[in-house]
Amino acid sequence: MKFGRIIGASGRPQWVIEEQGQLKQASGDPFAGDLCAGANVTGAVRWLTPVEPAALICIGLNYRQHAIECSLPLPKEPVVFMKNPSAAAAHLEPIRIPTICGDEIDYECELAVIIGRPCCDVAREQALDYVLGYAPGNDVSARIWQMQRGGSQWVRGKSFDTFAPFGPLIATVDEIGAAGDLAIRTELNGEIVQDSTTADMIFDVPAIVSFLSQGTTLRPGTVIFTGTPQGIGWARNPKKLLKAGDQVSVELGRVGKLTNPVVAA
Ligand code: MG
Repeated sequence: MKFGRIIGASGRPQWVIEEQGQLKQASGDPFAGDLCAGANVTGAVRWLTPVEPAALICIGLNYRQHAIECSLPLPKEPVVFMKNPSAAAAHLEPIRIPTICGDEIDYECELAVIIGRPCCDVAREQALDYVLGYAPGNDVSARIWQMQRGGSQWVRGKSFDTFAPFGPLIATVDEIGAAGDLAIRTELNGEIVQDSTTADMIFDVPAIVSFLSQGTTLRPGTVIFTGTPQGIGWARNPKKLLKAGDQVSVELGRVGKLTNPVVAA
């Protein structure tokens, strides 16, 4: 199943299910496992993030080819940082470049994992039982704030408003499994700038969920960004960065495609 949230004709947030390309109104609760499709959605819709993140946890340097382009050794354990959940942004919502940022805003296509039920001290073999599904995500990053002005933490440069778009839909784990071989790419103004597969991940989804759950409860609605492949704008020569007027898309295999325009704040 693929589901998300919109504001449609009712003017209120509502669940929707996509079936064979058709968006349908949905009732029930995906976290209770009883979401069901109803009538077709008609008229204009505004997308919301498919869940409101309870937490937004990120893994850095999790693709082999990306570690190589950054001239960094492959990590022995997952590199964990967080984004402020208030940075979440929906499909088609503009990514806003803050006035305090310079020419430093980068894209990072990522597989986002959405946790479906309380998850603590879970073994790798059981980890997928706690995953609700997956969505395309973009770990938008202000590189100078990330690396030079963040007090040695990445959080500041990763947490500006709208720097965590994900969606539009979540594809459930019963359809996608461990998501270990999904195409993942970024398109910037129609040009493919990242093009890889989740098979290049150093730590796969079960390993990440199990690792993060040790001694730590991952609440339902926790969103985990699982790292980006090679091709980031900051590592290019010349650099290729996001500017007002751009359009950036992240496509994740059969899960879906997330598109966001870029504007100045
Ligand atoms: Mg990232």
